[in-house]
Amino acid sequence: MPLNIIQGDITTLKVDAIVNAANEDLAMGGGVCGAIFAAAGKEELKTACAGLGPCKVGHAVMTPGFKLPAKHVIHAVGPIWRGGKHQEEELLRQAYLSSLQLAEGAGLASLAFPLISSGIYGYPKDEALLVAVTAIGDFLKESEMQVTLVIYDRKSFSLEPTMVYTLQ
Ligand code: ADP
Repeated sequence: MPLNIIQGDITTLKVDAIVNAANEDLAMGGGVCGAIFAAAGKEELKTACAGLGPCKVGHAVMTPGFKLPAKHVIHAVGPIWRGGKHQEEELLRQAYLSSLQLAEGAGLASLAFPLISSGIYGYPKDEALLVAVTAIGDFLKESEMQVTLVIYDRKSFSLEPTMVYTLQ
């Protein structure tokens, strides 16, 4: 399946699961995490997360989506950028893979990702995009899942014209 890249707000997507760029405590944070908690219902999502954390960097857990149009939220913990020599790339790739494997194992057909670690966690944006595209792309060689990568602030990224993408 091809990977779709779109610009938009991930909380509005009606898919089987959206991925949250979570922290290890699965606590409500800022950025996309704050937006997902607010749209899902803060109390419901906080309670669901409380029983599941902490979650290690590179790993992912799933909760219901509550008030979101998406049925589930997969909380994936990306690495904090510390200069690039602390296994950041491997850990970021692992955060994508853990989410994809969790979704596939649960029988989900559609999944949407934000660009994990590319905001508050400081991963350089174009490098974060490259890791996302290659990690998801490799997985999709062997999978029928419909995966969307959601770019929020498109102007911060140099999107290659050769990439398959649709802007909404
Ligand atoms: P992290 O802490 O993993 O860096 P952030 O939430 O700070 O997570 O940022 C991850 C990416 O999500 C950033 O590129 C940011 O622009 C983007 N983002 C923020 N809000 C949304 C949203 N509502 N939908 C999709 N992406 C978003």
